[in-house]
Amino acid sequence: MLKASAASTVVCMARPFSFQFLSLRRSARTVDLTGGVLRRPLSTYQARSSATATAASTSTQPFRDQSQHLPDVTHDDLPIISQDVGQVAIGWDTRLWSRFHNIWLRDHCRCPNCFHGITKQRLFNTFDIPKDIAPLRVESKPNGLEVTWPSKEPHASFYPWAWLQRNSYDPPLSRPPDLAEKILWGSKIQKSPPTVTYDEVMANDDRGLYKWLTNIHVFGFSFVTGVPATPEATEKLSRRIGFIRETQYGKFWDFTSDLAKGDTAYTTLALGAHTDNTYFTDPCGLQLFHLLSHTDGTGGATLLVDGFYAASIMKELHPEAYELLSKVPVPAHAAGELTSLYRPSPSSGYPTLGHDPITGEITQVRWNNDDRSVMNHLAPELVEKWYDAIRLWNQCLTSPDSEYWVQLQPGTAVVVDNHRVLHGRSAFDGKRRMCGAYIGVDEYKSKLAVLREQFAPDAVVQASSDIPNAQPDGRSIWNPAL
Ligand SMILES: [Zn+2]
Repeated sequence: MLKASAASTVVCMARPFSFQFLSLRRSARTVDLTGGVLRRPLSTYQARSSATATAASTSTQPFRDQSQHLPDVTHDDLPIISQDVGQVAIGWDTRLWSRFHNIWLRDHCRCPNCFHGITKQRLFNTFDIPKDIAPLRVESKPNGLEVTWPSKEPHASFYPWAWLQRNSYDPPLSRPPDLAEKILWGSKIQKSPPTVTYDEVMANDDRGLYKWLTNIHVFGFSFVTGVPATPEATEKLSRRIGFIRETQYGKFWDFTSDLAKGDTAYTTLALGAHTDNTYFTDPCGLQLFHLLSHTDGTGGATLLVDGFYAASIMKELHPEAYELLSKVPVPAHAAGELTSLYRPSPSSGYPTLGHDPITGEITQVRWNNDDRSVMNHLAPELVEKWYDAIRLWNQCLTSPDSEYWVQLQPGTAVVVDNHRVLHGRSAFDGKRRMCGAYIGVDEYKSKLAVLREQFAPDAVVQASSDIPNAQPDGRSIWNPAL
């Protein structure tokens, strides 16, 4: 049985391990994973380890349902404002109020004296604000809240309504997802894998580049077809996203199976699904690779596995194992070259599954069983449980439902989000020449954020665009990233 939603989310409910495309943030839909045993809303797939869930529920209140619509502020129906002890309350409608502490409002003043419109940096000393600061006056203006502070020089702060709604913390109000929703996938992605063309990506208008990076954001990988089968063209393609990250393997790499570097990647052996750089504190964000030639042999199919999809299944079927993978740090090393000896900092490593500490959402998969170091930090009673957990994890990763196998051809490059999608390959013979590059996660996200300002501007930025001094240099001071 297949269901399709408006967001092209397809959920297959025929058997365990068989739902193929899940949207990470979709809520209030029920997926039956085990022929009737489990019935939970799909919102549970917003993967949350119970450790972080507990921390989040004690430190922050849960976000309101995404579907709950905040009232738009109109000029003839302005919010009611009231000054309470230590804070200002804003009534969006009769039942829904946001409260902001006086110290918070003063600290977030974005007047030209307090916030530099070009550098987007704070200009005053937060610690000069009296602890008991209170407004002289608060006023509901057509575009936002105006607060006048006691000071020698007249000083008024202004906050757009949409910005206050977005940043409301008491209570937290619905916030749109940062970007397009992520779609989790299994092997059926082979029917229509995300793809862009080289010409699109290289075009000057950046629209194809935006499409490429959005593919990576949504699916965790994307093919690029029509790439000239040369290292030069592939390097140009990589540089469309950002700086190439130099590592012990070099900057832009171009290699064959000659063990030029002490790593299994430089052999003809099969490689199970893994993420790269588990031995780094900050594993590379994207990996781009391009098969330039394969002569005198066969094999060498590429394997891709959506780690977030595998994790969502782990969480549903084996919640205790999921929690262990979310908590137990795994040490790792890169030691195949005598001139380097890499370990993450701290050297106890990081858990296999990483989460946003506030939202509990899964943010990173780190998994390379070959690079794992000695597990000498496990409590004795956890040793067998942890080995059981990674066995289950390995089952989720190697299930035929999870594995997407593809035979790459010269001319098609693939870029993979190394914090989400695991990659591997089958053994091969003959001679293969591959080239590619690492790109840092921050470079990729920065480029995507800039393209989004151009092609999908934020609602708060749009709502506050006609406020004086909102955009002194083309970037709004009310940008949600600031
Ligand atoms: Zn100010």
